[in-house]
Amino acid sequence: MFTEEERQKLLYEYITTTHMLCLLIFVIAFILSGHNIFPIYFYPFINIEFLFLFFLLGLIIIIIYITKIRVASKTSERLSYIDYIYIVLPLILAVSILFISHKDLSNSEAILLLPILITASITGKIPGIFMASLCSLFLIIHEIIIEQGVNIFQAIQSVLIYISLMHIVGWFIGGIADMEKKHRKHLTTMANTDILTGLYNHRYFQEKLKEYFKSVSDDKPLSLIIIDIDYFKNYNDSFGHLAGDHVLEILGNLLKENVTDGITARYGGEEFVVLLPGSDSRTAVETAENIKKMVEDQKFYGGEYQPGGKITVSCGIATSPTHGISPKELIKHADSALYKAKSLNRNKVELYISVFEDLELNENERESFNSIRTLVSIINAKDRYTFGHSERITDYSVKLANRLQLPEKNIQQLKYASFLHDVGKIEIDGYILNKPGVLDENEWSILKQHPRWGSDIVKSVSQLVPISQVILYHHENYDGSGYPEGIKAESIPLFARIIRIVDSYDAMISNRIYKKNMTPSEAIEEIKRCSGTMYDPKLARIFIDIINSEEAQQTHVIA
Ligand code: GH3
Ligand code: MG
Ligand code: MG
Repeated sequence: MFTEEERQKLLYEYITTTHMLCLLIFVIAFILSGHNIFPIYFYPFINIEFLFLFFLLGLIIIIIYITKIRVASKTSERLSYIDYIYIVLPLILAVSILFISHKDLSNSEAILLLPILITASITGKIPGIFMASLCSLFLIIHEIIIEQGVNIFQAIQSVLIYISLMHIVGWFIGGIADMEKKHRKHLTTMANTDILTGLYNHRYFQEKLKEYFKSVSDDKPLSLIIIDIDYFKNYNDSFGHLAGDHVLEILGNLLKENVTDGITARYGGEEFVVLLPGSDSRTAVETAENIKKMVEDQKFYGGEYQPGGKITVSCGIATSPTHGISPKELIKHADSALYKAKSLNRNKVELYISVFEDLELNENERESFNSIRTLVSIINAKDRYTFGHSERITDYSVKLANRLQLPEKNIQQLKYASFLHDVGKIEIDGYILNKPGVLDENEWSILKQHPRWGSDIVKSVSQLVPISQVILYHHENYDGSGYPEGIKAESIPLFARIIRIVDSYDAMISNRIYKKNMTPSEAIEEIKRCSGTMYDPKLARIFIDIINSEEAQQTHVIA
């Protein structure tokens, strides 16, 4: 593929080579016209032409060097000071050749075509013609000087063919360059634009993401917002895909007009992204809240039949370098935040929060820890329902711990344990995890091993050793009927008793392949029923209280 960067490089290579050839012609003209480059053996430096030659050589070397840097960094179409050097240098050389050679070299006037060619090809028709006029002026002056006694009209007459030729070259080459530039711009716009919404497309977004990532630092963060329309399948099913397309169009326009400090693109389907270079999480959350509000306030055809009575969006946000040190990681974390927003009843803005942000690890531990994190994402992929499960469990656990007024340091440990409680499932076949029917005895005994495996896995990071017991016992029941050891009541660690409840609740309200989800109130009834047998009754009571008050709040919001 011939990229824009390669094209530019090639063009500048041509121009630099032309400069070199121009210089070579200059030297030849210089020698042939009787000038001696080394006139006085011991005093070469007093020769002014010799110094001039050195100056030009140095200039060429600098230009070649700058060209390299410039080609790597040129992003805009505007001329820079280096472009002016590219234009002025051959002009100086050509005019020097013209005057130095006087009448010693015939047709030396033709050298003036070089600066015209270069100017026209870099900058286009108008500057090309202007350069032709400038060169014509030099030509006329030259004619007047060497043909003493001629007046200006006679001088013009004798170089008329050259003057015409130079203007034609400037006009022609410049015209072609303009045309090519326009065409290239059109093609680039087409290649970068999403037809339906008029926003940038996925390809351009990825390109920009990579580009911005090069300059990410603590002082120059990069935030990403992923926006997903809520219940859009439902809308399409009710009003048809054409109406759905119209919603996407309107949304595209809203984003284009209102988000001006970043790159806004259609990521795919009904998902959009906003890339905010230089914005920290706080600014990105503000931008996303504005977008959310803007969509809520916009009237869409049939919006009132959507769940919640209008078309809404959910937004997930992540910021580099805090939440990811590669483009992939940034997208993944913004995506996790989006799933969290979806799991919290949609029409929400969620910022990615890493449970592990405060974990201080040494080099070795970081490696083990990163592998554990990878394991969690593998489990997510294996067992689809767990997507967002670890995050939700962590959320609920923290709420329970706050009600219990546990110290902050303990809550941190509870977060780690909640997030990693299922890590032992990595050893279990996806077939068992997603089996639609009842597990047979063998499969069941394998599944029951996951607390033990999980506990062993986290022990490899010294800071996680304290939670290994929590993971080991998170399936123990209050009455001793759980696994793997069948311990009971307060001999089960507090955190394990907390996770036992919140884990069950999330499993009950999630859709899984082998069962349909319950409503939150059905799940609460079930927890009440098993309080004292499976769950610690005191904790169960507090948890039910938390869920009830959240439910009441949400009902209030919808009403
Ligand atoms: P959620 O709130 O979880 O995001 O639910 P959802 O229905 O929006 O999510 P899901 O991913 O299940 O469905 C996305 C739908 O978006 C599927 C498809 O009907 C619709 N969609 C994707 N691309 C287009 C498009 O270009 N035009 C139209 N009209 N619909 C599209
Ligand atoms: Mg979607
Ligand atoms: Mg959606």
